[in-house]
Amino acid sequence: MHESPRYAFDDAGMHEALHRVFGFRTFRPDQQEAVQAILTGRDLLAVMPTGGGKSLCYQLPAVMLPGTALVVSPLISLMKDQVDGARSNGIRAACLNSALPPDERSAVMHDLLAGTLDLLYVAPERFALDHFQELLGRVAVSIAVIDEAHCISEWGHDFRPDYLALSAIRDIRPEIPVAAFTATATDRVRQDISTRLGLRNPLLVKASFDRPNLSYEIREKEGGDGQIASILKGFGGQAGIIYRTSRKSVNDTAAMLLKKGFRALPYHAGLSDEERRRNQDAFIRDEADIVVATVAFGMGIDKSNVRFVIHADLPRSIENYYQETGRAGRDGHDARCILLFSQGDIPKVRFFIDSMPDQEERSRALAGLSKVLAFASSTVCRRKMLLDHFGERYPRENCATCDVCLGTKEVTECTTEAKMLLSAIIRTDSRFGAGHLVDILVGADTKKIREFGHDRLKLYGAGKARGKVFWRRLMDELVARKVLARSEGLYPTLYPLEAAVGILKEGEKVEMVRMVETSQAKGHTKRITPDGLPADRELFDRLRALRKQLADEQGVPPYVVFSDRTLHEMASRQPATPGEMLDIPGVGQAKLARYAEVFLALIAGTPAS
Ligand code: ADP
Ligand code: ZN
Repeated sequence: MHESPRYAFDDAGMHEALHRVFGFRTFRPDQQEAVQAILTGRDLLAVMPTGGGKSLCYQLPAVMLPGTALVVSPLISLMKDQVDGARSNGIRAACLNSALPPDERSAVMHDLLAGTLDLLYVAPERFALDHFQELLGRVAVSIAVIDEAHCISEWGHDFRPDYLALSAIRDIRPEIPVAAFTATATDRVRQDISTRLGLRNPLLVKASFDRPNLSYEIREKEGGDGQIASILKGFGGQAGIIYRTSRKSVNDTAAMLLKKGFRALPYHAGLSDEERRRNQDAFIRDEADIVVATVAFGMGIDKSNVRFVIHADLPRSIENYYQETGRAGRDGHDARCILLFSQGDIPKVRFFIDSMPDQEERSRALAGLSKVLAFASSTVCRRKMLLDHFGERYPRENCATCDVCLGTKEVTECTTEAKMLLSAIIRTDSRFGAGHLVDILVGADTKKIREFGHDRLKLYGAGKARGKVFWRRLMDELVARKVLARSEGLYPTLYPLEAAVGILKEGEKVEMVRMVETSQAKGHTKRITPDGLPADRELFDRLRALRKQLADEQGVPPYVVFSDRTLHEMASRQPATPGEMLDIPGVGQAKLARYAEVFLALIAGTPAS
């Protein structure tokens, strides 16, 4: 409709540029549609999950079209990263924001006026300035890109008043296409974005929220440090995030890991700005492998080589879980998401929710919690449940990359044990919590047992054959089935509900269903890789060390030099010539020219000349 020679579409040229600039032979689903729309001068509204490959959708047209592409983005902390990333691919990119020193700002202005920029990132408050808008009327602008476009809607969760000013772009440059991107938008917010930006018949691209390179697992939380440490051993120094709920648990876990020799750092709102920044930078630069953090961590980082995210405590909601796990594997390489789950954590969360002053906030938090619990206790494919939550249907029966799809269901009949447990509760008048009840059943000799004379109960020690873990699990199962309930508060006691009668008096059976990991799921060859490490580990480590050295020399994060995926490909294919190097995904012309020689030399095992 608004096609002009400026926006003539050329399929071969688009694919050529994809390979030349980014080193990729193929587009990801939806990228192609989005790029085509922009290249033909059509407005675009794209809903894409984090890690979906959004930046390529506008960076490619920015390179191909004459003039400068303007990108409005609210996250100043990410701008430098984005500019570094674009520049590493040979794109002439710059940014304008309040954090920029005046001399650099005037250099950027100069380049903009001279027409030598492909891409300019600006903060929304800069866009709102009259003199900036006046400037936009005078320079050659190819497209306007609005990142995090949901910020323009008061119905969204991140409304930013300064985003309202963006509607002016239509008046200043009516002839250029406007492309809006967001990772989250309900129908209402989508409509709002479209109206407020004055989008004209925009192409709507809605990418799937599925992240196929992420695997999902939920494990029983055994408490204690041993479990986390043993999981981390399998990752062999790769980057990962461990989420915990409280500052104290963050500090404790980080200190424990440090003591065990892991390169781990804490991150939470209780640390000084300076310390937070230092820890975050160390993580981004691959100087620390692990960040132990509260949910305060992750917003302002773009690190693409995060190989695992562990939730050591319950996430607050499915949205939070999706967003937090979404920080893993942004480079498209395999990454793992592990949630450690224990019903025993629930009272703590309940207690926290109960202390919220605002009624509405409290009920929202409760609803979030109950969905998380349903997710964690379910034996339905994790991926399917996550996508369900976002209103998307997962088309396959088996995703082959979650614990449910890869595991087998282990069914244990435990009616006798359930009766024993219920009797123990009834005999002690529902006055005790899980720990003490287990002690009675396994016949522990504690002060509390002796004090209450519980060693004289007929049931004392009757469940010795089963062990503490089993009894805990059975309690969780009976709570989940609403046979038992926990009282509110920090020291909850257990009491029986209606349904207990069926088991005690009416011969109802109790079975526990548990997912156990099998070495190979039936009919599926793909497995959750034990560690995500490449075959030639030794070469990979040397490539990684070289990447780090080059990144430090340029003052950029290592993943800007090459992604983990690109290094993995190098380690396994071992290219010997520049031509072979160019076949590695992620190696475009700019990176080939800059890095091929040293990397080829390292792979060949000879020093670079
Ligand atoms: P987002 O901005 O949506 O979070 P990015 O644009 O940063 O995602 O892209 C995420 C990762 O995916 C980057 O490492 C990028 O190099 C990679 N990527 C993007 N498009 C492709 C593609 N077509 N083929 C292979 N990798 C891609
Ligand atoms: Zn699955």
